[in-house]
Amino acid sequence: METRLINIFAKEDAYSMETRSLLRRKLQQSGFVVPNDFSPQAELIVSIGGDGSFLKTLHKYNFPSIPFLGINTGHLGFFQELHPNDLDAFIFWYKQKRYEIQDLKTVKAMITDENQTHELMGLNEILIRGEYSRLVHLNISIGSSFIERFSGDGILVSTPAGSTAYNYSLGGSIVDPRLSILQITPIAPMNTTAYRSFTSSVVLPQDLFVRIHPEKQEANELMIVADGIEHKYGNISEITLNFSDVIVKLMRFENYDFWNKVKTKFL
Ligand code: NAP
Ligand code: MN
Repeated sequence: METRLINIFAKEDAYSMETRSLLRRKLQQSGFVVPNDFSPQAELIVSIGGDGSFLKTLHKYNFPSIPFLGINTGHLGFFQELHPNDLDAFIFWYKQKRYEIQDLKTVKAMITDENQTHELMGLNEILIRGEYSRLVHLNISIGSSFIERFSGDGILVSTPAGSTAYNYSLGGSIVDPRLSILQITPIAPMNTTAYRSFTSSVVLPQDLFVRIHPEKQEANELMIVADGIEHKYGNISEITLNFSDVIVKLMRFENYDFWNKVKTKFL
């Protein structure tokens, strides 16, 4: 008989750890093997926690192509599909293949500094801002056209999956994840006779690149934040952002509907 491996990761609080032990035991009783460490041969990764711990697991294992199932012990749980009370139902549905896989698109950034080019990925978003509370000036091109010299706190490039996260707090639009677009949302854009920037989000098709040439400033460092994970780079000559081919697969069950989830989590 083939070995069916399932990875389980849990946030380090008592409730998540307890849910993890319980699920491990139930899966083992059903004939699955739960390795202690990440196994790339696993058929599924269960992430117990909130959206934040799911995002951290995704980054830690470098966006694996194995499907994820989220069990929510966090606050909001937008990516998380089940509750810790649903473990038996989950195993029952899973064995019968009664689930669907939601494909989520990602965003990629290539950041060139004086030494090299760094690559970052985001499931929610990649944002660019100053190191502290400093105003930043970013020369932004879309495709082959120079668009604007942005002045403000920064800009956020959101995927459809991330449109309900930081993007939404900034006044960006909620986007159905079946669409393949990127949304650029300004963070505190300045609009005066001295500085002019777009004040609303712009939405781009999947084949367009966004190029950013940051203006040299005294403290020449920028913070690039991918799904809440901060990276600091100095002397950046160019940042290119685009839609990535990497897909994150999320397990969803019978009653999943994106708009119903939005309604229940937001209204
Ligand atoms: P966090 O500081 O714990 O919280 C951010 C909140 O956003 C949490 O309630 C989180 O859910 C929720 N969230 C994450 N992804 C979401 C999504 N795709 N749709 C709707 N809500 C979502 O940070 P975190 O948990 O590590 O999450 C990182 C994300 O936080 C970043 O990617 C960014 O989008 C977001 N963020 C938002 C703001 C803001 O709205 N002003 C500021 C900074 C960062 P859980 O409670 O389940 O973790
Ligand atoms: Mn969180």
